[in-house]
Amino acid sequence: AQPNSKPHVAFLPSPGMGHLIPFIELAKRLVDHHHFSVTILLPSDGSPSPNKAQQSFLQSLPAAITSVYLPPPDFADLPENTRVETRIGLSVSRSLPAIRAALTELFTGNGSRLVSALVVDLFGSTAFELAKELGILSYMFFTSTAMSLSLLLHMPQLDRAHDCEFRDLSGPVELPGCVPLSGKDFLDGIQDRKNDAYKTLLELSKKYSQADGILINTFMELEYGALNALKEEKRFESRVYAVGPLVKTSSDEIASDIDQSSDCLTWLSKQPARSVLYISFGSGGTLSQEQITELAFGLEMSGQRFLWVVRSPIENAKDAAFFTNESSKDPFDFLPLGFLERTESKGLVIPSWAPQIEILSHESTGGFVSHCGWNSVLESVVNGVPLIAWPHYAEQKMNAILLTEDLKAAVRVKPDSENGIIEREQIARVAKGLIEGEEGNEVRGKIKELKIAAERAFRKDVGSSSLSLDEVAKKWGA
Ligand code: UDP
Repeated sequence: AQPNSKPHVAFLPSPGMGHLIPFIELAKRLVDHHHFSVTILLPSDGSPSPNKAQQSFLQSLPAAITSVYLPPPDFADLPENTRVETRIGLSVSRSLPAIRAALTELFTGNGSRLVSALVVDLFGSTAFELAKELGILSYMFFTSTAMSLSLLLHMPQLDRAHDCEFRDLSGPVELPGCVPLSGKDFLDGIQDRKNDAYKTLLELSKKYSQADGILINTFMELEYGALNALKEEKRFESRVYAVGPLVKTSSDEIASDIDQSSDCLTWLSKQPARSVLYISFGSGGTLSQEQITELAFGLEMSGQRFLWVVRSPIENAKDAAFFTNESSKDPFDFLPLGFLERTESKGLVIPSWAPQIEILSHESTGGFVSHCGWNSVLESVVNGVPLIAWPHYAEQKMNAILLTEDLKAAVRVKPDSENGIIEREQIARVAKGLIEGEEGNEVRGKIKELKIAAERAFRKDVGSSSLSLDEVAKKWGA
C-alpha cells in the first residue's frame, strides 16, 4: 500500500444476492478489524435496471466500501433456455474489458488508491489472468461449502474419468474428507454434460488453481474433514482459509417493505418460545402450484405455528426469481381456498421477502424449513435454529447432505414419488417432529453445539476463522 494509505482490495462478486451478501460481510470485517477500504465491482446480469433490494443494500454500507456498477454485457445471442450458471459465468467473462477499465481507473483516476488484490467468487476465475497482468494478487472467496469447492476442484478429473452423466455413476464418489456423495446429488449445473453450464463450470474450475489463495465461508467445526483435505492439496500449499461464518447481522438493509417486516416480528413476539416454523426458500426459490398446495395442507395438518414466505409459482423453474427476488403475481392467489382463514390463529403468510435474520434470531422461532442455500444455513447455525432440509437447485442437495448425514443438524424431506412432489403427510409429520418430537431434540442439540462453535471461530486472536482472516489481511497489505 501507499504510505499512510489504507490497504485497498477490489471484490468481484457475480450477480445474485446470495453471492453478494457474504462479500459484503467480508468487506465489513476488513474495514472494521483491519482498516481496509474495499471497492466492489458489480457485473450485470443483463436486466435493464439493477435489482432494488441490492441497490438499497449497497447504499446502506459504510463509506470505506464503494460500489461500481459495470455496464451490462450483450446477452442478445443467448437462447432463452440458457441455464443460470452459463449466464452468470458470461456476466463476468464478457465484463472483462469493463473490469480492466474499472481497475485501471482505480490505479490512475482521481484519488487513486493502489489495489493489492482482486477477490472473485466461483464464477470469476476468468478474471485471474487480468489480475496477474495488472500485478495484483488473485484470490477466490468461495461462498459455499468446502465440500462443493472440493467437488469443483475435482471436476476436471471426474470429467476425464467418466463418460456417463454423474447421476448415472454406479457408486458414490468420495471427495477427500467428505461424506460419500451420490452423483445425482452433485450441483445441478453439472448434471448435463452437453449443456453449456457444464462446460462453463468445468472451464472455471480448471482456473481455480491459479488463485494465490482461496477463502471459504465455512469454519473448522462445520467441515473439519473437507477443510483439512483441501489444505493438504499440494497445488494450494495450504493457502486455503476458512473465514466463516460470515453472515448478515440484520435484514434491515435489504428489507423491501419495512411495515411488513415489523408486522411479522410483532406477530412472532406473540407466539410461545421456539414454537414457530419459519419457511423460506431463499432469494430465488419458487414452488410449483401443486407443491404450494401440499405444503399448505401439510402445515395445516401438522398443527404447528408457522411463518411462511410465499412466492407465486412458476412451473419448471425452481430458481425463477434468482435475479429479481420478486413475485410477478399476488402469491396469495395460489394458496388453497380458505387456507388463510383456517390457519389465522396459527400462522402468518407473507409475500416474497422476510426479515430473515430477525426471524431466525427471535426466540419464538423453533425451526427453519429451508432450501439450504448456504447463507440461510449459516444464518440458522449462528442462531442455533434446527433445519428441515428441502433443497431446490444449485448445490443445495449437497448442503442438505452435509447437514443431515454429516452434521446431523437437520432432518430431510424427500419427494414421495417420481414427480418430485413432497406430499402433505410427510410435511406434517416432519414439521411436528422437529418442533415437538424426539428428532427435534437431537438436531436441536447438534445445532446448539454448532452455534457455540461458530461463536468460538470468531473469537479475537484465538478463533480459527479470526486467525485465518488476520493472515489473509496481512497478505493483502494490512
Ligand atoms: N433472505 C431474506 N429474506 C427472504 C429470503 C432471503 O432476508 O425472504 C436472505 C437470507 O437471509 C440470506 C439470503 O437472502 O442471507 C439468501 O441466501 P441463500 O444463500 O440462503 O440462498 P439464495 O438466495 O442464494 O438461494
